[in-house]
Formats: sequence, C-alpha cells, structure tokens
Amino acid sequence: MLKINEERLMSDLNELAKIGATADGGVSRSALTLADIEGREWFKNKVAEAGLDYAIDGAGNQSAILYSNPKTEKRILAGSHLDSVPNGGRYDGPLGVLVVFEALRTMKDNGITPAITLETINFTDEEGAIMGLLGSRAVVGQLSESDFSHTKIGVDDLEQRLKNAELTRESMLSAKRDDVMAWVELHIEQGSRLEDAGMNIGVVNAIVGMRAFHVTFKGEAAHAGTKPMTMRKDALWGAAQFVLKAKQYIMDNYTPGVCNVGKISAKPGAFNIVPAEVYCALEFRHGSTAELERMQTDLLNLLDECAKEFDLDVSYEATPHVHPALMSETVMTAIESASDALNLTHGRLLSFAGHDTQTMATIAPSAMFFVPSVDGISHNPAEYTNDADCINGANVMLHTLLNLLNGMSA
Ligand SMILES: [Zn+2]
Repeated sequence: MLKINEERLMSDLNELAKIGATADGGVSRSALTLADIEGREWFKNKVAEAGLDYAIDGAGNQSAILYSNPKTEKRILAGSHLDSVPNGGRYDGPLGVLVVFEALRTMKDNGITPAITLETINFTDEEGAIMGLLGSRAVVGQLSESDFSHTKIGVDDLEQRLKNAELTRESMLSAKRDDVMAWVELHIEQGSRLEDAGMNIGVVNAIVGMRAFHVTFKGEAAHAGTKPMTMRKDALWGAAQFVLKAKQYIMDNYTPGVCNVGKISAKPGAFNIVPAEVYCALEFRHGSTAELERMQTDLLNLLDECAKEFDLDVSYEATPHVHPALMSETVMTAIESASDALNLTHGRLLSFAGHDTQTMATIAPSAMFFVPSVDGISHNPAEYTNDADCINGANVMLHTLLNLLNGMSA
C-alpha cells in the first residue's frame, strides 16, 4: 500500500517551526508579517525543490499543483494555513498544508499522474490577525471592499502587511475561483475527544454555527450599606443567576452544544454601589440550525426568567449569525475508507472551532478530519501532536485524495 515519506514530512514540519519560533517552543507567524512572509518563501522554495508547480493568487493564497494530463479545468483542492496566532503552536495549520504537499510529492515520486488536477493550498490569514478566513473567503467570492473597513488592525498596519506580500485590496477582491471540484482539510483537533476515546482519526460531519448576543440587565443603583438586601434591584444578581443556570440547562439539554458568557461588566462599578447595569457577552454554538434556533429561544427565555426573579429589566441585541457548515457525505466517506484501509480507528464528530473548510463548503463538496492533540492544548506553544499521528494523518490524506480521484470525474 502506498505510504508517504515519514522522515521528509517530519523534517519539513520541524524546519517550518523554526520560522517565527518563540523561546518557549511555539511560533508567531501572524498573517503577512515578516515572519509569515518568511514562512511563505520557505514553502515556495520547497514546492520548487519538489518539482511541483507553484502558484499564488491575488489574495496571497499559495498553491503547489500536481497537474493531470490533459489538464482538467476543475481541480481537487486540499490544504490549510501557515499563519499562526501570536505565540501559538507549530501544528495548527502547517500540518494541514504539509500533509497534502507530502501526499502530492509521494504521488509524483511514484509516477502517479492524477486523473484530476490536485492542488495544495496555504490560505492567507486563517487565524484572523486581519479578519480571519480571508484567503478562503476571497476564493469563494465572499470578500467585499467593505470588509477592509472592519479589519482587526489599523489601516497603516493593514497597508504594511499587504505591501510585505506585494498584495493590494484590489488583488484580494479578484481571487474568486470557480474551478473547485472538492475540498479536504486535515487539522489538529485542538480538543481531547480523540485522545480520550483512543481514536486515530476524527471525521468532522459539521462545523458548528454560532450565535451571539449583547445582553444588558438593568436594575437600580443604591447605597451598598444602607439599602436593605430585600429591597435591592441588583443587576449582577440576575446576570450571575443566568450564567450558572444557562450552563446547567445547556449541558442537560443541548450536549454537545455549548454556551459561554465571555465578558461581563457592572456599572457604575464600585465597592459601595449596588450594580445598576450589567453587560454580558453571550455566545452559543451547535452543529444544527434547528438546535441553534431552539437554544436561542430557551436562552432568551432564561434571560427573562432571571431578570424577573430579581425584579430587573433585560434587553438583548443579536450579532450576525454564523451558520453551521455541513460536510459532504462523498468526501467524508473518502476519508473513512482511507482510514479503514490504513487500519486506523475513526469516528464522526463536530468541529467547534472555525476553519477554512466552512468557507469552502459554500462552493464545493467539502470535509475535514482531525488528528489527536495531546491534552487538547492549542493556540499555545505547548501544542503537540505525536509524530505517529502526523504520519497517520498524512497517509489518510494521501488515500483520501486517491479515493476522490477514483470516485469523481472532471
Ligand atoms: Zn487552524
């Protein structure tokens, strides 16, 4: 059975981890900073060394290509991202690019000319230094001029980064493609479900959708000493009650769905004043739109209930929804057959983190799979995936691509 070159894969991973390396073993390659540019140069050189074709689009997405003969108009794409969060780990993203690169090299070494052109891709700014999923959004045509007025960095920083990569806003907006036949991504799990279950491969069946609300409880400011406890309208009592009740309610009724209050602040905000107003940032996630809808109704009812209990008013304002992305049965089956052929255990699970795959799923049959993260640690220098799991992932990627080539026609 065809296998990837293990030493070559691990040596690539280690080489890349030296670029933007931090003292504690992590990497900082924020999108289009000089460290990221250095990582991109490294990848470009590697592609040339491997004798694969190289391409870069207007959004800075880099590709290594193994052409079919004759060249098909449509292509099967696979990959991930080489950028990282500040002081992040060395596996989140790079492993997903390098396993596909290695799979293409293995095919080339073995004289395999694919029936459909295969392309590895390194998407720009997956991690959100600039806006998040930038490269994949550009490819599917979701990027618009107005997105550049809502970036997470200032105008000067944005212009500098674009300049570093010889890109422009105009070029970014011109990167839309219509030649994608399927998409597949490998990623580290960034959680501990696979490790806990002793499972090799997690096949993602949906990337969760997310809803978020700005919530405000309103009570009445009062003297924290003289106002009798029985007569207070303490906005923080309502918020506190909600946080704990929501936790229990979601666990009891919506597992594996999750909810979070990630920010809370009280006004006026002093030792000696009963809180008159409390702001909460509420977010919840699930893989199904119907469940998200029910969660929303239940959580908003719970807000009303908690407000009433403490004689408060409550108001809420929704932020734009992020819809769940359902994965393609065809691509999931290709991953599962590859895992079976390699005698690797696998199961289906939800992805609770966002990935370029959710964007790609809007234009082509798409799926992704996870390999285990030791202790579930991620976005942290201590992020680690065992060599054996990296190698398993690369072999599954290789055979997933071969299965897709067998099952699809251009
Ligand atoms: Zn990632």
